[in-house]
Amino acid sequence: MKLYITKKMLDEIVKYTKQKIPYEACGILSGDIAEENYRVKRIWTFENELSSAFKFYVNKEKVKSVMSSIDQLNEHLIVVFHSHPTAHAIPSFQDIYYHIDSKILMMIISLKEEIPDVKCYHITGNKYVKCELITVEL
Ligand SMILES: [Zn+2]
Repeated sequence: MKLYITKKMLDEIVKYTKQKIPYEACGILSGDIAEENYRVKRIWTFENELSSAFKFYVNKEKVKSVMSSIDQLNEHLIVVFHSHPTAHAIPSFQDIYYHIDSKILMMIISLKEEIPDVKCYHITGNKYVKCELITVEL
């Protein structure tokens, strides 16, 4: 699976997650899926109601309203992203356990090092496989 995202959107996601330090930040990306190619069109962010560096909890009503907005735009939920303020960009056991759907990719933004590390994964069962993350110019 390949994930295509503009450099501008990727910068925006990293900037957002940095603003939330020391807490974990999370959100979703909507766009199109054509076979194995996922193309990001829009970023949606969620407040972490736990204000935690290790966990997040998102209000269900907020998720519902975002999902219906995505529907109205004729887009799909293609990626769930979250940051790791102090850990590497590798899915934790919990990340895998709570991942909603294998068709939806997982993006992790690690802010552990000075240069953020962004990785994308395909989660199936209790395994994760790295996806290709392709940044494109507008
Ligand atoms: Zn995580």
